[in-house]
Amino acid sequence: VNSNIDVANLGERAPRKVDLLIVGCDIVALDPDNTTIRNGAIAVIGDKIAWIGKSSEASRIDPTEQLTVTDKIALPGLIDAHFHTAQQLLRGKIAAMARVRQLKNPIWKCYYIPFESILDPEDVYLSGLVAYSNMISVGTTCFAEAGGPHPDEMGRAALDTGIRGIIALSTIDQGVGYPPSMIMTRDEAIEGNLTLVHRWQAKGRVTASLALRQIMTCSPELIREIGRAATQTGVKVHTHLCEGTYEIDYALEHFGKRPAEFLAEIGVLNRHLHCAHSVLLSPNEIDLYVEHRPSACHCAFNNYALGSPQLMELWRRGVDIGLGTDGAAAWGSLDIFRVAHAARIGQQVIMGTPHHYRNAVSSEELLRIATNGGARALGLEHSIGSLEVGKKADILLLDSDHADQQPIYDPLFTAAATVIGRDVDSVIIDGKIVLKHRQNMLVDMSELRARLVERIPEIMRRFEEVM
Ligand SMILES: [Zn+2]
Repeated sequence: VNSNIDVANLGERAPRKVDLLIVGCDIVALDPDNTTIRNGAIAVIGDKIAWIGKSSEASRIDPTEQLTVTDKIALPGLIDAHFHTAQQLLRGKIAAMARVRQLKNPIWKCYYIPFESILDPEDVYLSGLVAYSNMISVGTTCFAEAGGPHPDEMGRAALDTGIRGIIALSTIDQGVGYPPSMIMTRDEAIEGNLTLVHRWQAKGRVTASLALRQIMTCSPELIREIGRAATQTGVKVHTHLCEGTYEIDYALEHFGKRPAEFLAEIGVLNRHLHCAHSVLLSPNEIDLYVEHRPSACHCAFNNYALGSPQLMELWRRGVDIGLGTDGAAAWGSLDIFRVAHAARIGQQVIMGTPHHYRNAVSSEELLRIATNGGARALGLEHSIGSLEVGKKADILLLDSDHADQQPIYDPLFTAAATVIGRDVDSVIIDGKIVLKHRQNMLVDMSELRARLVERIPEIMRRFEEVM
């Protein structure tokens, strides 16, 4: 990977024949050198970035397809490192219910998991089409599914929408009060996880991870065995960790240790474990993260309602941490730009304000966490997360001519502070244009909306029966 872009010499290195040439954008590479290029160009061969330079140096390049733009910023695609595909059609439903009835608690157990349980495979496919085309429309080019029902259908939807993703199976083998269809034996859970990973091994853009829903829903034996399988296969385990107070109490009561301490003791807290939320970490658990290097995901939309998440502490101490939405049911938006903006305010309140320290975290650093950090957290830092020659061509073209963005002195500031998902004009994933001037190239969005209108009443009828 060539991260050292010498603009003066780029013309000589430009290839002649390329598949796609993007010309006229300001480039914010988010590479190790923090390269920005005004009026730049990016050449793509196959699924990879072949050349990056000034537009003026690109004239000798002969592309099969050319995208000439003005007033656009090119940015690496954003990564949603914790997502729930099967909760997509629940967006706004819990809030709507709360206006007319008393809600039960906890929400995840009383509503999210029952909702997942009533979905047919085709409903999960539909949820995937809706969710992933939504993500693409707001600049997310890669997602990590936390684990839900019918994960193969998520994979099929990911392939069809053109997004990059890691799918996973909801894994619950203990606890009371869960719908029967969501519970499996330990052997079924292991078998289901391993065969899923195996089936999606050679699919390239879409792969599968192992999953443990969380420590309360997974037996210690299952946690050990999935942890062992992760080490053997080199695949990540997606889990929720240190998210709720109930989980801390459960770990103290059953293991005499806090959740991350328990996982460290049994050898599962390692580079293969991907720990969504990681909000309620004690100082000792933060040390364990730094020592054992599990990855993490900060979901700013809801993490500040759970505790004081130490995002910047973890990031600055070298933990691989990205940003996530936690799905549409949790908060509503799938816009990682907005997650980053929320995280900046949250981290400022936690880290800076008590000490009258105004610069606790910058928007630029959070944009880096949303890209570089997400890639590292998913173990994909060698192929995605920045615009560099040799990396996958996962590229956003963002509007930068709106009134709320002018004037522009530094495209990095604009991308980090004033861009939101709806400013995404075009999206390239794996070298293919999947969104062009806000038009989805692979999904007929009006037909998809019509399918939703037709299907939602039946899904909601089933949901009423299980709540
Ligand atoms: Zn979650």
